[in-house]
Amino acid sequence: MIEIPFNKEKIFKCLCPTCPVQEKSYCSKEKMMKLQDTLQNKDEPLKPQDFPGMYCTNGKAVCEDIDTEKNCICDKCLVYAEFNLDKADPSFLYCKDGQAK
Ligand code: SF4
Ligand code: SF4
Repeated sequence: MIEIPFNKEKIFKCLCPTCPVQEKSYCSKEKMMKLQDTLQNKDEPLKPQDFPGMYCTNGKAVCEDIDTEKNCICDKCLVYAEFNLDKADPSFLYCKDGQAK
């Protein structure tokens, strides 16, 4: 099992919010807007299901309006490089296939 921490540092590195797979997802965009509010409120804890990304550690996307036929850009992400996810299973498209192991 690969343990990738879910924290602000990693969230800021995750490229999922800019990925073509989520480009037309209203659900993902709504979560990003709510996330801005949560990040500004220091007392409110971040919940994995409220961030449309970090699927490599959080598992499959909650949003159902994503287009997983588009290209995954995880291989350009710093978290991907840091945890050698090219050797993980699966090695991309975590929003569809679940977390990296
Ligand atoms: S590897 Fe992919 S899912 Fe994981 S943080 Fe990077 S962009 Fe997000
Ligand atoms: S896991 Fe890959 S395909 Fe899915 S949203 Fe993140 S970058 Fe895009």
